[in-house]
Amino acid sequence: MFLASAETELRYKMEFTYSAYKKLLELLQNSGYKDVLYDTWGNYGKTVILRHDVDLSIKMAIPFSKIEKEMGMEAIYFFLLNTDFYNIASDSSRKLIDKICRNGGKIGLHFDEAAYGKQDVTEGILKEKAAMESILGMPITYVSMHRPSKETLEADYQIEGIINSYSRTFFHEFKYISDSRRKWHENVEEIVGSGKEDRLHILTHAFWYRESEEEASKALKEFITSYKKQVYFSLYNNIRDLNEFLKAEEVEDL
Ligand SMILES: [Zn+2]
Repeated sequence: MFLASAETELRYKMEFTYSAYKKLLELLQNSGYKDVLYDTWGNYGKTVILRHDVDLSIKMAIPFSKIEKEMGMEAIYFFLLNTDFYNIASDSSRKLIDKICRNGGKIGLHFDEAAYGKQDVTEGILKEKAAMESILGMPITYVSMHRPSKETLEADYQIEGIINSYSRTFFHEFKYISDSRRKWHENVEEIVGSGKEDRLHILTHAFWYRESEEEASKALKEFITSYKKQVYFSLYNNIRDLNEFLKAEEVEDL
């Protein structure tokens, strides 16, 4: 018995690949789910909100937006303002975000409460919303929390002008499924395939997905290497004749 259930678990283990994500979208469509946004779901019966929290790399979110475009589905991409990994105000980031928008993606604020006191969460969200609107030149009407505390998950923040994806509605009245920390905590394919839930809220982190399945350690090492390349390229654009000081081939793993 134990073996049988272990096999079943293995069989349903969703891979962290683009093709597996595409299959999940196909399964959603075949199970009758309509892709919706945080402010349009009320108009439909069986619905799914596709959410992406972009924690580490905007570039790595692009393949997801292409798949969704192919499938004719809408998703929401949440970006951080307060992070050392990317800068949404840079020219290259804005081009990438623009590409996601052209693929049909919607944009929201990914909010890291760690930089604020518990009393200042609402104020912080509104401050970052205004900054993001000014940088990207578009209204920002959705917020998701980056590594939320228990208090934030339970707070049910209702904020004028911005919908909280962790409000009671989207966290409890929807079936919430996430691949946080590169692990599906429930069998997402089975839940979608069964079609039993009327409302789904699926969170994915594009950072972990590749063309083919990789160990987490390898994926992380590749990210560090690509980051080094990015740093060298940025140095190249900012220090005239960088080659005279340091050639690309002199940097390990570049
Ligand atoms: Zn996050």
